[in-house]
Amino acid sequence: MNIYLADKAGFCFGVKRAVQEALKVKIKYDKRIFTLGPLIHNNDVVEHLKKNDIYPIELDELYTLKAEDVIIIRSHGVPLSTKIILEEKGLIVVDATCPFVSNIQHIVKKHYELSYTIIIVGDRLHPEVIGINGWCGDNAIITKDGTGLENIGSRVCVVAQTTEKQVNWEKVLSVIIKNCKEFIGFNTICKATSERQICARELSKKVDMMVVIGGKNSSNTTKLYEICSENCKNTIHVENSNEIPNELIYDNIKSIGVTAGASTPDWIIKEAILKMDDEKNFEINEQLEFMKNNDTQIAVGQVIKGEVISVNEKEAFLNIGYKVDGILPKNEVTKDENENLNDLIKPGEEVEVKVIKRRSDDGYVVLSKIELQREKAYDEINKSKENNSTINIKIRDVSNAGLVGSYKGVRVFIPASHVELYHSSNLQEYLGKELTVNIIEYSEYNNKTRIVASRRELLKSEKNKAEEITWAALEKDTTVQGEVKRLTDFGAFVEINGVDGLLHVSEISWGRINKPGDVLKVGDVIKVSILDIDKEKKKLSLSMKKLIENPWNNIDLKYPVGNIVMGKVVRFANFGAFVELEPGVDGLVHISQICNVRINKPENALKIGEVVKAKILDVDKEQKKIGLSIREVDEV
Ligand code: SF4
Repeated sequence: MNIYLADKAGFCFGVKRAVQEALKVKIKYDKRIFTLGPLIHNNDVVEHLKKNDIYPIELDELYTLKAEDVIIIRSHGVPLSTKIILEEKGLIVVDATCPFVSNIQHIVKKHYELSYTIIIVGDRLHPEVIGINGWCGDNAIITKDGTGLENIGSRVCVVAQTTEKQVNWEKVLSVIIKNCKEFIGFNTICKATSERQICARELSKKVDMMVVIGGKNSSNTTKLYEICSENCKNTIHVENSNEIPNELIYDNIKSIGVTAGASTPDWIIKEAILKMDDEKNFEINEQLEFMKNNDTQIAVGQVIKGEVISVNEKEAFLNIGYKVDGILPKNEVTKDENENLNDLIKPGEEVEVKVIKRRSDDGYVVLSKIELQREKAYDEINKSKENNSTINIKIRDVSNAGLVGSYKGVRVFIPASHVELYHSSNLQEYLGKELTVNIIEYSEYNNKTRIVASRRELLKSEKNKAEEITWAALEKDTTVQGEVKRLTDFGAFVEINGVDGLLHVSEISWGRINKPGDVLKVGDVIKVSILDIDKEKKKLSLSMKKLIENPWNNIDLKYPVGNIVMGKVVRFANFGAFVELEPGVDGLVHISQICNVRINKPENALKIGEVVKAKILDVDKEQKKIGLSIREVDEV
């Protein structure tokens, strides 16, 4: 069995424009929106609009509307008086009257004002005809076949309902010609209608069966049905694919023709054809090709763009160019419950989304921005690993094993040993922080992706860079500031802008120090002089005592011979005791100068740490020697 679609079928310009206008209004106004009567004669489209919160309302229900509600005038148009009522009520009026119908209204108004009798060829109960008649004070003579035209006056202006049959127009004209002296005629039958009628007529002559698709109350669809029935006795009129009988294949039916009224959207035609065509035997004509090109197929996982129609607290609705709209729930936009969806997405905005369900319980295509971001994030992470570039992650969780971070919603793990270059005992301090990391593992198995990151390489290279800069800046005999990082028996390691230098114990003070820990502790910030530097071997020797004046410089002035000084016994030798006069300046009290009696060793008379008075016997600045006598003080 072959299926043929009429060359011209479905949505006409005026209807398409009205539907688009209604959806645009939805974006433009954050208000209640109504259409004065069903926007077009197609229940599926009316239901689609209802899902977008655009509801039909009848003229006698206007009292339920408030000022500033939006009302859309449908493509059929309305009488002038109705337009005035809407405006006086303070409503926002959006006129989606088809321009062809508006043209008729203005012709009628103008000629009525010029005292012509107005004749409309059409159906007196059709809303378009009622509307046109309203532009000449409801004084038009309405006829379909020329009856009722006996007393029409001498000057007549005649127009036609846009969906009227050509044959009726000609019939009425032939009567008018006979009955009046002067007439002016405007054949306002819409080309869209006549084109559909011509195509339907031609097709219905060639096929065994005709299927006319469109609203049961659509006059142009009804006319198509009448035309097709004249040529093909097996003609049926259905609103959509559900009404097509399941058993279409009779022995004598080899071909089916399809046409559709001007209010029938492409997707309803397509569904109907697909339902009838079990062997994909339909002929691709211009019309079908157009529909095919404009038809959007939706599959889970597909990335599509959509225009935001409306946004509320919980979800946004998107026009995705499909037969049903898309719904974008808030939790598919952000995981932050405190965020307001209205701040994140605005009506009219175009957004890229991923399809995660073809049909929700309410019939919408379910969309996600988060899934799309996550997919992009995986891609970026993978590329980052390949290129050895860095990414920034926010730390969301901490465990003994390490840190768990998030990159645009994707989990990234940093082992504890990769957080710092040294062991970090307090990982909690990283919680909530943003860290720059390298990806060191990206693996997938069992539908799971494992992503491991590290800071080590990054920190190492940062350290190296800082060290390079420091080595370049350091100069011998300059004073720098550093932090004591480690203490040993032979000295302290001091870090200067990332570079470690050795402060030998002998360079800490002019005085005698047993071990560095006696005067320094880890964390002390000290000033040091660079004693020596080897930039090649990266060796740095530091001195603290160089920054203090050598106590032997003016020793003879500070300690004149014959004077009495106080000092502390610091060590013993067989030949005497050393007494510290100040850090770095020790004097010797020979054993014979300790007391008036003979002693075998100094410790028989003195104790380490004991403070004693002594007389300066001699000072040798060159040899850094001072002779002292305790005995002579006692004798004084
Ligand atoms: S059939 Fe013609 S006049 Fe009627 S809405 Fe469509 S384009 Fe306008």
